Amino acid sequence: MFYGSGFGFWDLRQASQAQAAASRATHAGRRAQSDVRLLEERLDKLMLVNMALWDLIKDKTGLTDEELAAKVEQLDLADGEADGKVSRELTRCGRCGRAISPRHSRCMYCGTERPDQTVFDTTN
Ligand SMILES: [Zn+2]
Repeated sequence: MFYGSGFGFWDLRQASQAQAAASRATHAGRRAQSDVRLLEERLDKLMLVNMALWDLIKDKTGLTDEELAAKVEQLDLADGEADGKVSRELTRCGRCGRAISPRHSRCMYCGTERPDQTVFDTTN
């Protein structure tokens, strides 16, 4: 009898699908770990370059750590929130009101220049 045998074709098929899903999950987990390791390496390198730049700037200009901290706080608060982050929200075009991506220096609909253009807005 096919029905009621307790272990049939569908059970085997489900077990096989579950095994494949587990294998995919393991692979995705390894990939995510590798991506995180890569991001950490890039972050370490960026921190190192930032520290080197700040040391050079301090030596050449006489600026202090307190002045740097005050500037960081000022930029952090520029979006109205002290969250340790730079705002990545879309800017609205002053002319047509449509969203302007941070990657673009002008509105792609009417060509109006972004009001808050900085060097970081165009170097992604
Ligand atoms: Zn526009």
